[in-house]
Amino acid sequence: MHFKTIISPQIKTIALVSHDNLKPSLIRWCQHHAQQLQQHNLYATGTTSGLIRDRTTLKPVSLLSGPLGGDQQIGALITNQEIDIMIFFWDPLDTQAHDADVKALLRLANLWNIPVACNEASADMLISSPLFANEFPKVIPDYESYIAQRSKQLVE
Ligand code: PGA
Repeated sequence: MHFKTIISPQIKTIALVSHDNLKPSLIRWCQHHAQQLQQHNLYATGTTSGLIRDRTTLKPVSLLSGPLGGDQQIGALITNQEIDIMIFFWDPLDTQAHDADVKALLRLANLWNIPVACNEASADMLISSPLFANEFPKVIPDYESYIAQRSKQLVE
């Protein structure tokens, strides 16, 4: 795999997702950090987004609910390099009907080198980093060189 360096922008696009038992803590976290979060672009899965819209001053763009494809929509945004940070409070104590989608989303986030916080302490660390609201260089897969190399290998 070839990689390249891109600049993660100052104004980030942040994906917010929470499983049902963690929704209260994500709402609390959003309330607590609303001032900082409102300086960025926000996306959230359907139910999470509705709750954030109702209970905070933030207005994330609403995707589908996670079990209906919202996680996959975030995954697609990640592969298009349209998400810079993901806050995903997933539940380690409950089974999810869409477990395959959860795994796929976490895999894509890892592949595309997205800073991910899976719990409140990590989210606190992320949002307090100077990189949260500043540009920083990061390495991602170089798709053009990947596809060129792969096509060449497969026909030679
Ligand atoms: P929800 O989806 O915000 O619609 O509950 C979250 C998820 O389970 O991925």
